[in-house]
Amino acid sequence: TNFSDLGLAEPILRAVTDEGYTTPTPIQTKAIPVSLTGKDILGIAQTGTGKTAAFVLPMLDRIARQGGKAAPKTCGALIMAPTRELVSQIADNIRNYSKFMRVSVTVIVGGVKPRPQINRLMAGTDIIVATPGRLLDHMNNGILRLDQTHTVVLDEADHMLDLGFIPDIRRIMKKLPKKRQTSLFSATMPTAIRSLANDFQTNPVEVSV
Ligand code: AMP
Repeated sequence: TNFSDLGLAEPILRAVTDEGYTTPTPIQTKAIPVSLTGKDILGIAQTGTGKTAAFVLPMLDRIARQGGKAAPKTCGALIMAPTRELVSQIADNIRNYSKFMRVSVTVIVGGVKPRPQINRLMAGTDIIVATPGRLLDHMNNGILRLDQTHTVVLDEADHMLDLGFIPDIRRIMKKLPKKRQTSLFSATMPTAIRSLANDFQTNPVEVSV
C-alpha cells in the first residue's frame, strides 16, 4: 500500500512525502481508510508504530475537505493525551502534516499560565491537543465549549487510566455532541478502558498491530 492509495487529500500527501515517509505503517494502512469513512476506531498500538499519523492524517483530511474557520470558544477536533510531553509531540506532528494547509492548533496543558491559552481559545481553533485537567478548567470557566467538536481522539488511554484521568475524561466526553467520530488508542486494553470505549464509542472498528 502507498499513501496515495489511502484516500487522503493532496496537501496531506505532499506533507507526508516531505516528511520522508514512503509507505504507511501497518496501523496507518489499517486505520486511515476506516477513519476516513467516519467510523470510530479502537486502536491497540504501542508508541513507535506510527499511531499519531494514523489519527492525525484523517483528522486533517476532514478539515481540508470542509474548510471554514472555527467559531469563537469552539474547536472542530480534540485530542487528549496523558502528558505535556506527549501533547507537545502530537502538536508538532500536526504542524508538520498540515504545513500545506491552513489549520490552527492549540495546546492546552497544566503547569503554565492560562492567559495565552485563553486568548487562543477565545478566537476559536481547528484542533486542540490537551491534557484533561486544564481542558476541563477552561470548559468550567466558559472559555471553551465542545458542541461543535466533530472528531475526538483519546491517545494512550491506558496511561491516562494510570494517571487517574478517567473521571475528567468522562466529564469532558459528556459535553460532546452525539454525532461525532470518537477514536481511542491504547497499548493495552484493561477493563476500565474497554468500558470507557463501550460508553463513548459507537460500533468501533478494532484495529491492532
Ligand atoms: P508514533 O508511533 O506516532 O510515535 O511514531 C513513531 C515515529 O515514526 C515518528 O518519528 C514518526 O515521524 C515516524 N513515522 C510515522 N509514520 C511513518 C511512516 N509511514 N514512515 C516512516 N516514518 C513514520
